[in-house]
Amino acid sequence: MSRSPLDVLSETFGYRSFRDGQEVLIENILNGRDVLGVMPTGAGKSLCYQLPALIMGGVAVVVSPLISLMKDQVDSLKQNGVRAAAINSAMDWDEVTDVLDAVRRGSVSLLYVAPERFDASEAFGAFLSSVDVRLFVVDEAHCVSQWGHDFRPSYLGLPAAVGSLPKRPVVAAFTATATPKVRDDIVLHLGLTDPFVLTTGFDRPNLFFSVMQMNSKEKDKFILRHVQKNAAASGIVYCSTRKAVDATRDFLRTKGVPAVRYHAGLDDAERRASQEAFIYDRAPVIVATNAFGMGIDKSNVRYVIHRNMPGSIDNYYQEAGRAGRDGLQSDCVLLFAPGDVATQRFLIDQNENQDDRQSANRRLQAMIDYCNTGSCLRAEMLRYFGETPDYSCGSCGNCAGDSGLTDVTVEAKKILSCVYRMAEKSGGLSFGKSTLVQVMMAEPSERSEKYGFDGISTWGLLKDCRRGEVQTMVDSLIAAKYLSVSDDEYRTLSFTPKTRPFLRGDEKFFARLTKKAAPVEREERTKRVRKQEAPSNSDTAMFEHLRKLRREMAAEQGVPPYLIFPDSTLYGMCATKPSTEAMLLEVPGVGTTKLERYGGRFLEAIRDFLEHS
Ligand code: ADP
Ligand code: MG
Repeated sequence: MSRSPLDVLSETFGYRSFRDGQEVLIENILNGRDVLGVMPTGAGKSLCYQLPALIMGGVAVVVSPLISLMKDQVDSLKQNGVRAAAINSAMDWDEVTDVLDAVRRGSVSLLYVAPERFDASEAFGAFLSSVDVRLFVVDEAHCVSQWGHDFRPSYLGLPAAVGSLPKRPVVAAFTATATPKVRDDIVLHLGLTDPFVLTTGFDRPNLFFSVMQMNSKEKDKFILRHVQKNAAASGIVYCSTRKAVDATRDFLRTKGVPAVRYHAGLDDAERRASQEAFIYDRAPVIVATNAFGMGIDKSNVRYVIHRNMPGSIDNYYQEAGRAGRDGLQSDCVLLFAPGDVATQRFLIDQNENQDDRQSANRRLQAMIDYCNTGSCLRAEMLRYFGETPDYSCGSCGNCAGDSGLTDVTVEAKKILSCVYRMAEKSGGLSFGKSTLVQVMMAEPSERSEKYGFDGISTWGLLKDCRRGEVQTMVDSLIAAKYLSVSDDEYRTLSFTPKTRPFLRGDEKFFARLTKKAAPVEREERTKRVRKQEAPSNSDTAMFEHLRKLRREMAAEQGVPPYLIFPDSTLYGMCATKPSTEAMLLEVPGVGTTKLERYGGRFLEAIRDFLEHS
């Protein structure tokens, strides 16, 4: 009799219930059907194939693009007493042979391999034909698509590898990349047969998103304060250039924060050392370019701060999404300065292909809109990914109302009228942001002279405002879709279907002028309130106590601390304060293997803490 999925879930993985989507994917795999699971980072995709692999027997082959990902998964499975192994290019022949022997003996349930294993050596294909492969898993399956960001040609060879096996295994593919194009590519290029496709929503409810506009000095101060306030937590600070990485890291160091850095300009040794220090909880903060992150499965990243605005929401969501894999409340803060736009435009202009530039500009505009919107950030992001959220989340910087939004309804209407007057005066032409701002500020220019803008009624209507503020108001109108920007290089502004109703109506309009502007009173418009999972203050000390023990035990074994137990499990212990093995087993994340290995020491630590506090 094989065990039921729920039994395996609790005995082996220590969890009581499935997360969204897991159960149905597992059921389909167990019924022999190919599946494609599209779920956001941290949703728990691994479990969807690891668990059926254990029930199906034989060996499951898992294709994974990075050695670090494989290692993390194998170590994590071993912690739970699962027989998992990997073969990769960093191993010597003897090591590989040992693993293959173990597979042949039937003592490996999950075998992780890189996709190149299938093209480099036909011997591996032949080897697989000689063992009992029942499940073939393709993780990070978007790598098969040229539309994705991490295309890997070797993924295209996987269907042939599957086809050459004596008996076709169930094929299961997983990715966090949402676009329909990528999804179709996966089904096609991986040769999935009548797959069960599941796409869960892209929302990450435990992430708190916020945007703040500030200059470089203020960014330094903000980052330092945030890092110090969360001294016990792990965080990533992303910068858009190597220079900014170095400067930010140095700044934190001079203030006594042992931050490490990571970018493509460093030698391998420093990069590896930085990454390890961060993953093993020795350095609390890593300051990095976007070169850092792919293949990092560290589950207890509590915050991701972007010092600069990235070039697209796709990139932003992926980078910010490295926070809170364990499902605990985490912060994603985007620090924005208008100069960030110039940096991104410069990068785009390096591209020689006009179509590429155009689509990059469109993605950039969506990112700029995100920075300038006064409405729900979560909803704005989900809409970008094609969802249709009809709520304000109640738990982002804009919904929670601490984002320095100012009521600029009157100014906004003046700006829109000006767009109208300029078109009227010029015989129907549209103009870009800088001309518009010049007219609002009554700044003479060749163009204004040519078209006689200094004679229109809106000339200089905002000349008492600061120039930067007027620019921000225009950006906010674009973000709110009251103005649209042309796709060409001129980026001219024109009305949208929303513009006239706004001009006639009495809807208010908010912009994020400076971070100092007093927050406005906002009407209650939250439809969904999310519960905060953070621990109470009294538990924080206990958490620190257990965290210390976890770090010691991790060091003894040479594995990252979050593989011993994730943060969520430690919080679970703080909440229930178990005094017996049976109670400990009730804590999510404690399965039978970990209970056996670590239960004694954690129970002792809990007892010890309660006696001495
Ligand atoms: P993904 O690959 O989708 O980004 P992972 O498979 O790495 O996510 O899982 C993220 C975290 O969620 C891991 O720490 C994992 O142990 C945890 N997890 C997975 N399934 C469950 C569950 N049913 N209950 C609680 N935690 C879970
Ligand atoms: Mg994963």
